[in-house]
Amino acid sequence: MSPNFINFAYLVAATLFIWGLKGLTHPRTAVQGNRYGALAMFVAVAATLLDQQILSFEWILLGIVIGGLIGAVLAAKIAMTDMPQLVALFNGFGGGASVLVAGAALLEAGMPTTAAATNTFTVATATSGIIGAVTFSGSIIAFAKLQELMSGNPIMFPGQKTLNVLVALVSVALGAWIVIEPTAVEPYWIMTAAALLLGVLIVIPIGGADMPVIIAFLNAASGLAAAATGFVLSNNILIVAGSLVGASGLILTQIMCKAMNRSLGNVFFGGVGGTVVVGAGNEIYEGKIKSTSAEEVAMLFDVAKRVVIVPGYGMAVAQAQHAVRDMANILESRGIEVEYAIHPVAGRMPGHMNVLLAEAEVPYEKLKEMVHINPTFDQTDVALVIGANDVVNPLARENNSGPISGMPILDVDKARTVVVIKRSLSPGFAGIANPLFAADNTLMYFASAKEAILDLVAALKEG
Ligand code: NDP
Repeated sequence: MSPNFINFAYLVAATLFIWGLKGLTHPRTAVQGNRYGALAMFVAVAATLLDQQILSFEWILLGIVIGGLIGAVLAAKIAMTDMPQLVALFNGFGGGASVLVAGAALLEAGMPTTAAATNTFTVATATSGIIGAVTFSGSIIAFAKLQELMSGNPIMFPGQKTLNVLVALVSVALGAWIVIEPTAVEPYWIMTAAALLLGVLIVIPIGGADMPVIIAFLNAASGLAAAATGFVLSNNILIVAGSLVGASGLILTQIMCKAMNRSLGNVFFGGVGGTVVVGAGNEIYEGKIKSTSAEEVAMLFDVAKRVVIVPGYGMAVAQAQHAVRDMANILESRGIEVEYAIHPVAGRMPGHMNVLLAEAEVPYEKLKEMVHINPTFDQTDVALVIGANDVVNPLARENNSGPISGMPILDVDKARTVVVIKRSLSPGFAGIANPLFAADNTLMYFASAKEAILDLVAALKEG
């Protein structure tokens, strides 16, 4: 294959990647953006394999069929709520692949017959190994926490930060050794082992509620590792694609940090956001909880002019989004203004609520971001909270030491009446009680989200 042809194919792939990212910035164009990204990846992989002339067309096709099948089965089988875990695994495998490819390249370069390795090569190899290994082990821990294979609570011990710094220094020192003495392969694997330990140490003190930030950060790290591997292999498209993943992951990390009002340093070292139940909430709830029913809520809607629906993790688990859309249609047909309040970390992954509601064909214009919807709650008759908890917890505003303190929340408590649909008084992901449930203007509708909404639809139709 001529180098010109390969570089042209890479240019096409890079353009498609950027086009794909552009598409992903809006729900309406996101599916198309995803397709461009997939096409870009196909062009990039095919061009690389043809360039290397290691594999023939048949093998490439076989790889696509096997990889495509695994991808299709995973996509079909994994529930929306388990998507963050899947993303964590993808990030981890990306990091792991970078470690192995850079290690293999070093082994090859270390052979006495090959020319002396350049500085770019050795620095990139060490960088690939360190970032890739941290990403791999960190992502596996993030996966285990989200999949509840291990506790979501922060794991902390005395001297942890010092140990982290020491392990990081050891990895960097071994990386420097590789740069000075590229023919020695052993330091690479010891460096990788130290970086693997570092990844574990970095993620174990991070509490469950801070996981979205960490997943976004590890995503960025997997991109940076891939970009470094691109320098190892002198492969332009890997450098471009890795940098795009790195940059977009860092931007998302920053957005998530802002949404939770934490600095990245606080997420890493704060040890907050575990799934500890802080008190059973008895003192807060005792004698103050008012339960309601479908019929009562339907009556509230009868006199309402404006209703704001606040979806959360519980709506996702119950797959209630289609029923919610049907209910909203009925309300709108009766002249009631209906909007949806979307908190950036509602659910278990960035954009979780947008995806679910888009799937249920709720018009995108009706989904309002926190900054836009918050000033409207005091003109709202009913705020209908469906399986959301932490993102509407007023403790975030008032309390200075809790796991969600300082996190911007949806000000549903300012609505005339708040109806909260959930099965019990159990806490949400952050593991803390919610004074909203005991507020004077709150009614608790204890039921699973889908049943509750279906009953509400029935009550509306009867009424
Ligand atoms: P929460 O986790 O705070 O609360 C969800 C509530 O849903 C629970 O209290 C639960 O109460 C209820 N619920 C569960 N199943 C059902 C059901 N079938 N029907 C009705 N209700 C149900 O969710 P939020 O969306 O408010 O907040 C998200 C939290 O997750 C935040 O703390 C965020 O930081 C964290 N997080 C976010 C991620 C993201 O990227 N968006 C990723 C990881 C964590 P009950 O059991 O009583 O029904």
